[in-house]
This record gives sequence, C-alpha cells and structure tokens, in this order.
Amino acid sequence: MQRYFLPPEQFQQATQTVTIEGDDGHHLQRVMRAQIGDEVICSNGVNREVRVRITELDKGRVIAEVVEELPMHAEAAVQVWVAQSLPKGDKMETVIQKGTEIGAARFLPFLSERTVVQYDAKKEAKRTERWQKIAKEAAEQAHRNRVPEVEGLHTWKQLLQRAKEADVAWICYEKEDGQQLKPAIRDAVAAGKLGSGKKVLLVVGPEGGFSEQEIQQAEEVGFRSVSLGARILRTETAAMVGLTCLFYETGEMGG
Ligand code: SAM
Repeated sequence: MQRYFLPPEQFQQATQTVTIEGDDGHHLQRVMRAQIGDEVICSNGVNREVRVRITELDKGRVIAEVVEELPMHAEAAVQVWVAQSLPKGDKMETVIQKGTEIGAARFLPFLSERTVVQYDAKKEAKRTERWQKIAKEAAEQAHRNRVPEVEGLHTWKQLLQRAKEADVAWICYEKEDGQQLKPAIRDAVAAGKLGSGKKVLLVVGPEGGFSEQEIQQAEEVGFRSVSLGARILRTETAAMVGLTCLFYETGEMGG
C-alpha cells in the first residue's frame, strides 16, 4: 500500500481526516491514478501513522478519512547518526538511500582534509533539499515511521563538536591498530550505551581516508576509532557495514 509522510498540520484532528497535496497529492492522483475509496498509509513522521480512505479528489489535493491507527514499530531503538565526508559524484545519494533503508536516524555531511569535492555555497541548499527528498522516498519505500533528517554541510571542527551529543562516537578507521567493531559494540552494550533512545555518531572518511592528525583530533574529543575488518571498503560502503553490524548486534535485524 502506498505511503506518504505528511507535515503534522495536514492531519486534521477534529475531522479525523488528512490532506495530501503538493508533490504527494500529484503523485497520488496522476501517477497512482487514485480513486475515491482507495486506501493509503500516512505518517506524520514523528508519532502517528494511519491507514486512510480517499473521500475527495480535487486537482492534486486529496482528502482522506482516517480508517485505522497503525502501530509504529519500524524504527530502531538506538539512533544512529551517519556522518559522511562528502564523497565524489552521486555517492552521497547512495549513502542516504541505503542508510535510510537500513535504519539510520540522521545524516551529517562534512568536509575533511582529503575531501575532494569542491564546496559550492550556491549549490549547498539545493543539494541538501535533494538529499532530504531521497531520504523521504527511501523511508516511504522502507515502510519506516520516520524520515531521517539530512543536515547541512559541516566543517571538520563543527563535526567534532557533535561528539558530545552522542552516547557513543565512533570514527571508522581502516588502520589495523583501530579497535575492532564487534568488541566496541559489546563494550558499549555492557556500558548501557546502546539502549533505547541512545545516540551513536558513526563517522566515515572520504575516498582518500582520514589523516593521522584527524584521527588524533577525533580521539581527543571522545571519538573511538573502530575497524570494520581487514578489507578496505569504499567510502559509500563503510557506513552501510557499520549500520548493519550495529543493528544486527542490537537485535534490530530480526532477533
Ligand atoms: N585508506 C583507504 C585506502 O587505502 O583506500 C581510503 C579510505 S576508505 C576508501 C574510505 C573510508 O571508509 C575511510 O576513511 C574509513 O572511514 C572507511 N573505511 C573503509 N574501510 C574500512 C575498514 N576496513 N575499517 C574501518 N573503516 C573503513
């Protein structure tokens, strides 16, 4: 069943109806060719998900009545924030799409020493808007209850500041002396840092990796460097591996 994330103000409490308009209304009417009586799922992306039945179709604006309140159990208990050093080409779109499917809660793009992408302030707003749209579409496809937030571009210093918001801050580092991920997860579980509502900040470097100095700066503000195994992963693969291992170990992958 088609699903849409709608702003909370499009849920009318008094009449127990929702309004689907804009791109979603257009998609539902023009692409899905919806008819009166058809049903879709709408979520406010925070704490409410409902099955609704269409009662009115009016040039891209759809009104539907709430038929059923749905349980919300598609979100991981632990929030994983993926911080990705801006990769070349459209790899960031892959990171956002796949990371959303797996269950990431937030994306923090950042610039580091070896980021090769040129920062262009003019493109920045448009690019973030496009990435947020990718996150929304991936969350709808994945039947998630929430759309991950895609934040604006961080400098390296701004990213380091974010460690203090996390219960666990890991920087993925492929040098063999990094702590292995499995014991790092186990230690965090034992310390009660991966329970419900806890936040993990997982940082991945660009195609050229992190400098030793960056790793040192990160460790000085509380990051722990973790290895994702003996093989060198592409920058767009690393966060997917980290997310999946974390969710597997915390029972979010069935079990
Ligand atoms: N030094 C790498 C090389 O020799 O090609 C370049 C960096 S790698 C392509 C991109 C990023 O993915 C790294 O900065 C790191 O964050 C992450 N990464 C890749 N493989 C990893 C591994 N085995 N363990 C931990 N992190 C890894």
